[in-house]
Order: sequence, then C-alpha cells, then structure tokens
Amino acid sequence: MIDFSMPAELAAERDRVRQFVIDKIVPFERDPRLTAHGPTDELRQELVELARAEKLLTVQAPESLGGRGLSHIEQAVIYEAAGWSTLGPIAMNCAAPDEGNMFLLSKVANPEQVERHLAPMVAGQHRSVFAMTEPDGAGSDPAQLATTATFDGENFTVNGRKWLITGANGAKTWIIMARLAENPHLPAGPTLFLTDGDQPGIVIERTMNTMDRNYVAGHGVVRFDNLTLPQSALLGDAGQALRYAQLRLAPARLTHCMRWLGAAERAQSIAVAHARTRTAFGKPIGEHEGVSFMLADNEIALHQCRLTIWHACWLMDQGEKARHESSIAKSYVSEELFKVADRCVQVLGGIGISDETVVEMIFRDIRAFRLYDGPTEVHKYAIGRKVLRG
Ligand SMILES: Cc1cc2nc3c(=O)[nH]c(=O)nc-3n(C[C@H](O)[C@H](O)[C@H](O)COP(=O)(O)OP(=O)(O)OC[C@H]3O[C@@H](n4cnc5c(N)ncnc54)[C@H](O)[C@@H]3O)c2cc1C
Repeated sequence: MIDFSMPAELAAERDRVRQFVIDKIVPFERDPRLTAHGPTDELRQELVELARAEKLLTVQAPESLGGRGLSHIEQAVIYEAAGWSTLGPIAMNCAAPDEGNMFLLSKVANPEQVERHLAPMVAGQHRSVFAMTEPDGAGSDPAQLATTATFDGENFTVNGRKWLITGANGAKTWIIMARLAENPHLPAGPTLFLTDGDQPGIVIERTMNTMDRNYVAGHGVVRFDNLTLPQSALLGDAGQALRYAQLRLAPARLTHCMRWLGAAERAQSIAVAHARTRTAFGKPIGEHEGVSFMLADNEIALHQCRLTIWHACWLMDQGEKARHESSIAKSYVSEELFKVADRCVQVLGGIGISDETVVEMIFRDIRAFRLYDGPTEVHKYAIGRKVLRG
C-alpha cells in the first residue's frame, strides 16, 4: 500500500524547525557578516550555537556520533523546513559541503579518521571541503582528473590546481581527489585523501567572486604545491575515488533539492503576500490572471518537486542506490525551483530585483544549483543513456 501520511512526530519536528528558523535565524539575514563571499566563520559559529541550544545541531548524523540518524525521507522533511532561510542549514550543520562530507566519512573513514575529522565536524566545530573540480581537468567529467599524487611507499606527494572549492578558506578538514600514479605499493587511479587544511602544501590563491553567497567562506581557487601526506591520509581504498564520489553525490544532490525547496517556498510566500496587497488597475494584482497563474505554476512545481524528492528518498531508505531517480530529481528540481524563484521576482515587480526582500538573494543563490552536483545537461545525458539502453 502507498501511504502519503506524515507521522505526527515528524510533522511536529518539522514545525519546530521552521519556527526555530523564522524566530532565531531569519533575523541574521541582514547581518553584515553575511558577505559577498558567504557567511563568515564567526557568523556560522554563532548560528551553530543557536541550533545546539535547541538540540537541532547535526540531527542527521549517526546516533553513534550524537545525531539522530535520520532516514532519507526524514531528512527531506527536516531540511525543507531548515531551508526557509539559506542560513537555516548552516545553523543546523546540514549545509553543503559539510553535510555530504560527513555522510561520506561516516561510510568510508576508519576509526582514527572518524575521531580526528568526523567527530569535530558533527560537533559543529570543524568545517570541511571536497576538492575535485579543476580549471583544466575534472568538472562535469571527473574522469578528466588532472591533480596528481605519487607514493614512495611512505608518503604521498600531491600537485595540482582546483577551483570552485566551497568553503576552502578556513576549512579544517580537506577531502582531496587526485590521480595516484602507478607505484609498486597501491592501486593507481583517482584516489581520495583526507587531511588537515592548515599545512604548507595547501595554498589558497583566492576566493572567487560569484553570484551566490549562501556558502560559508564562498568558493576558493586552491593549489597543491608538493603537498606531502602520510599513508594514513588515504581515505578508503586507493583508486576508488570515483566510486566514493558517487556514494557521496547521490544523497548529497537530494539534500540540495530539499534545502532549496524550502527556500523556494519562502520566496513563494513573499510573492503571495505581495499579490494579495499590492493593487494595480483597480484590484490586488493577485486577482489578475497573469499573476495568479504564476503563483499557481509555483504551487504545482513545489508540489511536484517535493514528491520527486520523497520518492528518491523512499527508494534509498529501502536500501536502493537510486542513482537514476536522484539524477531525475536533481535535474528536475533545480530547473523548476529556479523558475519558481524567477516568477516570484516577476510578481514582486521592481522590488523583486532589490534586497528589499530575500527573494532576490534566493534567486541568485538558487541559480548556481543548476550547475553544481552535476549540471542539468550532464544528468540528462546520463538519464538519456539509460533510457536508450532500455
Ligand atoms: C556554487 C558552486 C559550488 C561548487 N562547489 C564545489 C566544491 O565544493 N568542490 C568541487 O570539487 N566542485 C565544486 N563546484 C564545481 C561543480 O562541481 C562544477 O561546476 C560542475 O561539476 C561542472 O563542472 P564545470 O564547472 O567544470 O563545467 P564543465 O565541465 O566545463 O561543463 C560546462 C557545461 O557543459 C555542459 N556539458 C558538460 N557535459 C555535458 C554532457 N555530457 N552533455 C551535455 N552538456 C554537457 C553543461 O551545460 C555544463 O554546465 C561548485 C560549483 C558551483 C557553481
């Protein structure tokens, strides 16, 4: 039997999260520490403490690490509520890239790595990065990975350049993807390394100026300059980075969908309020069909996005990888929510493009979602190949 009802406890927790975000987090949206390069670490820490006080910090983490071990579908409900403000997931420590990195480490890290890196991340103390994308190598096609690693039987030496690395400036924990060269000790090929951020071989060249500003510390251009790592820095098995990246990406792209769904709902609520009160040609603009249809299209899209997300989550909760369904969800939801945000800007008229409301920020932030964790075209490329295979 298919049952669409929501357990009362989960609904109550969703409402508690939404109220927490409205009461305690939304006021920080005008804080000067929310900069063009995203929230500062100081702002993040202040928000994290607010969530900690409400027992809402890192609720998704495994119970063994102090979280509540939420299922994927429970995450969908809670993250949507958190996403009402782009600062909500940061406060609750369920924002990218930390959320996906914590998931990956919970699956792949050994006990020493859990203690040194994952535990402080779950506690909200450390931030982390996932460094894959390169100016002339890995991007849509991670197999183009150009950053190299050599191994002499004792240490690795990593060299290469990456960009669009979210949170690079100030992150304590780094997950780095590099191509391990042939050597007599370990399998060669794309490999993940886990290390501290503050060391001489990691050079942060600059923080990029981007149109979004919802990620802590923005996006960095970084260089690995003869970065020397001990064998213990190996994350999982050598040569398995692309497999681990997939393990991380399928749920991570869904959690992006969940958070942005919450943000798009917020934009819709502002547009609806405006359509009820702003008048033109003798009546509230919402009574003009051109406007009510835009709001109706938004309502339809939000509902369809939620169902698409929930279905992929449900499959994963049954133990399936749901790669195809998460690809469908990611491409569909990112495109639809961008259209929702755009229509909200339109309903607001001229103020839609100003920071008089948070809609303008949501519109800019949500635009980037059509690119990261796989651009729409790359997901469609994968979906299309599967369709043709039959
Ligand atoms: C806000 C933001 C945060 C990010 N954070 C991180 C991070 O923390 N760590 C990290 O490693 N990376 C990060 N990225 C990078 C992100 O993963 C890449 O932007 C993404 O994988 C696409 O790679 P690319 O930018 O090199 O685009 P390219 O690979 O150059 O692709 C450009 C365009 O080509 C088209 N295209 C590519 N392949 C196909 C195909 N098969 N069929 C049809 N069209 C295709 C698509 O339209 C695509 O947008 C971030 C990106 C953004 C925007």
